[in-house]
Amino acid sequence: MKDLIIIGAGPAGLAASIYGIRAGLDLVMLEKFSPGGQVMNTFEIENYPGFVEPVTGWELMAKMEEQAKRLGVTVENGDVASFQRDGNTGKFLIRLTDNRVMEAGSVILATGAAFRKLGVPGEEEFTGRGVSYCATCDGAFFRDKVTAVVGGGDVALEEAFFLTRFASKVYLIHRRDQFRGAKILQDRVLSSDRIVPVYDNIVESINGNSSVSSLTLKNKKSGGLSELDVDGVFIFIGYTPNTGYVPAELLNDSGEVIVDMDMKTGIEGLFAAGDMRSGSRRQIVMAAADGATAALNAYDYIISTQ
Ligand code: NAP
Repeated sequence: MKDLIIIGAGPAGLAASIYGIRAGLDLVMLEKFSPGGQVMNTFEIENYPGFVEPVTGWELMAKMEEQAKRLGVTVENGDVASFQRDGNTGKFLIRLTDNRVMEAGSVILATGAAFRKLGVPGEEEFTGRGVSYCATCDGAFFRDKVTAVVGGGDVALEEAFFLTRFASKVYLIHRRDQFRGAKILQDRVLSSDRIVPVYDNIVESINGNSSVSSLTLKNKKSGGLSELDVDGVFIFIGYTPNTGYVPAELLNDSGEVIVDMDMKTGIEGLFAAGDMRSGSRRQIVMAAADGATAALNAYDYIISTQ
């Protein structure tokens, strides 16, 4: 049995593993795919302290993983289906989708969040054929092409700007007349001659034959429909927490794990950190801090049970 199992190897999980292993806990990290989390989809990060010049998401996460491994952290491949705490022994049993069962004295949940979908006709059909959720991954396919970005938050603004490296034109479609994203990002996109803001519009459908060729938009103020010719559409409308395997009584109405300032959940010995927890501001530095907080409190908990 391990002292601690950390589920998820994004910034929260990796920071938790670094703090946990340095505290002397016998721990293992479980990751469904490969370490890094959502940050891997971000081209450049310029607000993670310590990096004078922007660092790519890939590079930052590779460094975090390398640091954790240097300290002795092991990452195992595993997709968690469910977990429970035995009320008598206090032991956590973690069941994986391949039916393996793992045991631990404490658990940190750090499974992050996944991009939200628009849920309009054509979205599913054209995913990978013009519909994308990752400009870093797919931007280069749209060299000299006309693209659209949907959303008005930090991610939509950042990624629209990134796409101007390739696309000849980027329509930035937002459902209101004001962007939600940071002022510095708004100024950046509004000063680009390749980005054309389309305010007060929602996407009604994504159209095409073998790949995307146009969007049907609805103006929220006038109710009028219009057709916009595009070769691709990037959707950045926020995230939903990856908490499908977490018991409903631990979640708030948004599906996030409810925690206190110590990252403690409603179950003793169970912690949650990063984008999946209540009140998260979805910043890499904050996810890392959550992970550290959770690991230090997991250490205190483990010590108190010995
Ligand atoms: P977000 O801040 O939640 O913004 C989502 C955007 O999508 C909003 O503009 C929202 O419109 C729009 N939207 C939501 N549902 C929609 C729908 N069904 N149809 C059309 N539009 C829809 O999400 P995000 O941009 O992905 O960012 C997530 C978090 O990460 C934020 O807290 C952000 O600050 C953080 N982040 C920070 C940085 C950074 O600091 N450099 C970088 C990336 C992300 P409304 O505005 O009308 O609600």
